[in-house]
Amino acid sequence: MPNFICVTCGVNLPTEDALRDHTASVHRAEQGVYVCPKCGAKFGALIALQRHATQAHGS
Ligand SMILES: [Zn+2]
Ligand SMILES: [Zn+2]
Repeated sequence: MPNFICVTCGVNLPTEDALRDHTASVHRAEQGVYVCPKCGAKFGALIALQRHATQAHGS
């Protein structure tokens, strides 16, 4: 089953539309607060940045 995962907070959404709606409603005002020092990716929550760092750059 396809899962659409929010890159900002890691929540799973059932459809791409749901993910778009989630991002627009939940993260529109808080995007880009936390910036990954290794690749410059921006996240709206510290936990999302930590998750990204682990998944994208290793421990
Ligand atoms: Zn999210
Ligand atoms: Zn990164």
